Amino acid sequence: MRRTARSVLVSLLAVVTAAGGLVVPAVGAASKQPVATGTGGAVSTVELLASRPAIRVLKRGGNAVDAAVAAAAVLGVTEPFSAGIGGGGFMVIYDRSSGKVTTIDHRERAPFAMHPESFFENGEPLPFNDARFSGLSAGVPGTVRGWAQALRRYGTMRLRTLLRPAIRRAREGFVVDQVFFDQVNGNVAYFDDITTTEAVFLDADGTPPDVGTVFRNPDLARTYERIANRGPRVFYRGGIARAMVQAVQQPPLTSDADHTWRPGVMTLRDLEAYRSLERKPTRVNYRGVDVFGMGPPSSGGSTIGEALNILEGYDLRNLPREQVLHYFLEASRLAFADRNAYVADPAYFAVPLRGLLSEGFAAERRELITEEAATSPVAPGDPYPYNGSSSSGSRGEASVTVERSGSTTHLTVADRSGNVVSYTFTIESIGGNGIVVPGTGFLLNNELTDFDYGSTTHPNRVQGGKRPRSSMSPTIVLQNGRPLLAVGSPGGSTIITTVLQILINRLDLGMTLPEAIAELRLSQRNTPTTLAEPAFLETAEAEALRARGHEFTSVPEIGAATGIEFLTRRLMRAAAEPTRRGGGSALVVNPR
Ligand code: GLU
Repeated sequence: MRRTARSVLVSLLAVVTAAGGLVVPAVGAASKQPVATGTGGAVSTVELLASRPAIRVLKRGGNAVDAAVAAAAVLGVTEPFSAGIGGGGFMVIYDRSSGKVTTIDHRERAPFAMHPESFFENGEPLPFNDARFSGLSAGVPGTVRGWAQALRRYGTMRLRTLLRPAIRRAREGFVVDQVFFDQVNGNVAYFDDITTTEAVFLDADGTPPDVGTVFRNPDLARTYERIANRGPRVFYRGGIARAMVQAVQQPPLTSDADHTWRPGVMTLRDLEAYRSLERKPTRVNYRGVDVFGMGPPSSGGSTIGEALNILEGYDLRNLPREQVLHYFLEASRLAFADRNAYVADPAYFAVPLRGLLSEGFAAERRELITEEAATSPVAPGDPYPYNGSSSSGSRGEASVTVERSGSTTHLTVADRSGNVVSYTFTIESIGGNGIVVPGTGFLLNNELTDFDYGSTTHPNRVQGGKRPRSSMSPTIVLQNGRPLLAVGSPGGSTIITTVLQILINRLDLGMTLPEAIAELRLSQRNTPTTLAEPAFLETAEAEALRARGHEFTSVPEIGAATGIEFLTRRLMRAAAEPTRRGGGSALVVNPR
C-alpha cells in the first residue's frame, strides 16, 4: 500500500526547497518525494501497487488510456473507500493524433424517481450522515461505462486484458496499512450495520483488519472477471445490476443495526439507461499556455478557469509571495461565489459557461479585489452579459460551500507517443454510502449528497436523471499545442484550490512540479475563514495575510495531488505527494 510505496523501485529525489520565503516543504527537507524523470511514458498515482501495472501496460505498447484504466481498476481494489466501480469520475484525455483534448464524463446520475425533496423528512433536509448512509445517496455508477467508452474511443487494448492486474490483486490481496485501517475505523459504527459491508471489510470480531495483515477481496475479483468476460453491459443489466438495485432499495441490515438506513429508489431501468458522455473540455489561455479542465457537471474547469483569468491581471511573478497568496485567495473567493451560484448539470440548467470563462467577466470580478481580505460570503457576479446571445439570463441562486471531507483519487499517465490522461474518480465520502453490494465486493457511492439537496430551487437541486455538481478538476496544460503539465487531486471542493495553487506555483512562481505539489496549501472557497495546513500558519506570509484580514482554520492536510510535467518533447517527470495521505508514487518507463 502507500507505505510500501516509499520503499521504491525507481530513483527518488529528495524534496528540493524552492527559492523564495514561503516554501517550507510539507515534509521535512530530509523526506523523500516520489519523483521520477525519464522517457517512454510516466505514471503517478497514490500508490505503487497501481502505478506498476500501468507502467507494465505502457511497456507492452499500451497507450495512456489503457494504462490509466489498468491503474484505476487496481485502485478500486486497494483504495476501495476512495474510488471504484460503485462510483464515477471524469477523465481528461489529450489525444496526440488529433492534437485535441477531450473528456469522458462518467459521473453518477440520480435515479429517475428522485425529486428535489427526496432528502427531506418532515419538511427538513436530512442531517448529512442520515442522507449519506442510506440507499438514497447512491447515484447510478458510471465508472464501468466510463472505462469502456474511453477505451473504445481512445484506447488500444481490451478491458478484459486491462482488468487482469486488478483481478490478481483482489484475489492475492495486499498488506493493510495505517491509512486503510483508519478509513475502516472511521466507518465502523456504520459498516457493522450492513451484513455485506461487515463481511467484506471487518474482521470476525467486528474490528478493522489489522495493519500488516493481508486483505483479500475475492468477491471483487469475481465481479471484475464477469466484466472482463462478458463486457461492461454485465454491470448494468443482469445479476450485478439486480444486486445493486436490491441493496439500494433494501439495505441489507444486521439484526443489531443501530442506525436508520433509508431505502433508495434506484431501479433496473436507471442502470440500463446510464450512459457516459464525451464532452468538450473547458479551456482558458493563461499567460500563453492553454489550460484544459472538466466542464459542467463539474465545477472544476470553470472555477479554476475563472480564477486564472482574474489572476492574469496581476504580475504574480514579480510580487512578494504574500501578495501573490492574497490575490490567489481573493480570486478563489470570487470564483467560488460564482461556482456556487451557476454550475450544475448542463442538461438541467443553462450554465453560463462562456460568461464565467470570459475575460470581461474576470475583469469585472478583479475590480472588486482590494489589498484587504473581503468578507465572505461575497455575492456572485453576473456572467450573463458576457455569455453571448444564447444566454437565458436566468440567475443562479447563491449557495454556500459545503464543508465536507471526501475520498476520491487522482492519477496521471502519459505514454511515449505523447498521449496524456488526467483522471479523477470517486465514491464521494470515504467509504461511500457504506453499502457493499451483496456478492460483488464493492461499495456504492454517496455522490447524490453532492447535490444542494437541502434546496428545492437551486440549480444543483436533486432531480431525476441528473448528475450532481462536482469539484473534481483533472487538468491538462498545453503549450503551443504540446503537453506541458497534467495534474489533479482529491479533496472535495478544496480540489479546485489545490489544482489552482499548483498551477500558479508551477506557471508563475518558478517551481518545478514536485515543488509545486509539496508546497504548503491554503484553500479559500467563499467561506468566512481560509483553510490552511498547520505549518503554513507558522510562516511570515501567514502573519502578513492576517494583517490583511485573512482568518485561518488549521486542517492537517489539503488534497493529495499527482501529476506529470514535460521537460522536453520526450522527457517527462512524474511527481506525487511526499506525505499527504501517506504519500504517492511516481514512475517512468525509462528512468534517466
Ligand atoms: N464528490 C466530490 C466531487 O465530485 C469528490 C469527492 C471529494 O474529494 O470530496 O466533487
